[in-house]
Amino acid sequence: MNKNFLYKLLNARGVSGSETPVEKIVYEYVQQFADKVDVDVMGSVTATINPEVPFKVMLAGHADEIGLRVTHIEDNGLIRVSRVGGIYATAFPGHKVVIDTAGGPVYGAVLTDRQLVTDGNMGADKLRIDIGAKTGDEAREYVSIGDPATFDTNYRELLGDRMTARAFDDRIGVFVVMEALRLAKEQGAVIGVSASATVGEEVGAFGAFFAASAVKPAIGIAVDVTYATDTPFTDPAAAGNVVLGGGPVLCKGPGIPNTVNECIEASADALDIKLQYEVSGGRTHTDGDSITRTNSGVPFTVLSIPLRYMHSPAEVLSLSDVEKTVELLAGFLCDCSANMNLKPFG
Ligand SMILES: [Zn+2]
Repeated sequence: MNKNFLYKLLNARGVSGSETPVEKIVYEYVQQFADKVDVDVMGSVTATINPEVPFKVMLAGHADEIGLRVTHIEDNGLIRVSRVGGIYATAFPGHKVVIDTAGGPVYGAVLTDRQLVTDGNMGADKLRIDIGAKTGDEAREYVSIGDPATFDTNYRELLGDRMTARAFDDRIGVFVVMEALRLAKEQGAVIGVSASATVGEEVGAFGAFFAASAVKPAIGIAVDVTYATDTPFTDPAAAGNVVLGGGPVLCKGPGIPNTVNECIEASADALDIKLQYEVSGGRTHTDGDSITRTNSGVPFTVLSIPLRYMHSPAEVLSLSDVEKTVELLAGFLCDCSANMNLKPFG
């Protein structure tokens, strides 16, 4: 496993709308093996192998992460924020954060108070970031309205093959799609394959719409994280029993053609990789929902890495799941052929 690339992705910050630091890491990394690398106007990077082949599979992992954005600076120097994506506001009080400003990172502490953290309905409007400024004017010298902020955390290796980090959702998806592309090329895939590090998934998946509209894939695969249900306060009956270390998770849902899933299952069988399953009742809340609506419609599925404590500053996953997902996708890309029939009948 190329941990150097993974660690670089995890160290970078990319709140939705401010993904450029993540995209630049991807752009630099894929030059070694991609036949073509594109950056679109929204900032998503798409790396392609065999670009001359019209039959393309598109893999998408989203580069953005949830976080905060500065809305107001009080005269006492405290910074007010709004949410970006599905944050838990209660996760922030008492935590260190970093605001990315035009002049570089500005560090802060989020105001905490016993009454505040016991308010289950607390929203981002209650958060105040203390950057050490004594007055509003001093704070305004450093921080501007619209600057993004996120938890000031680092990754850590845990016992066995487990790791904790902020924004595994979906930095790990970006890692998987780019590594699967590299491996598919090494293993001699003959179809066209594009891997995109998309922007804006957490706020409506618009980056994937731009990227897929340009790629025009025959099949789309969103690679994201999904809720592991092997810890307290989770329910395997809600959407499927998903355990850390249990392997890649394939999504079944009304918008996902069985034929695409059957191809993935055949490749998993051939590689002796065990799959887990999750069920989506409608939209998958991934880039797949956007990819499928591009051009004349794109059959898609979602392949996920099990994740504990999603959208917290300390998400946890198993690296064996990551390795198996890369291996499975590369195998699938090599098994694909331009004359695949994806119709259920007829
Ligand atoms: Zn995600």
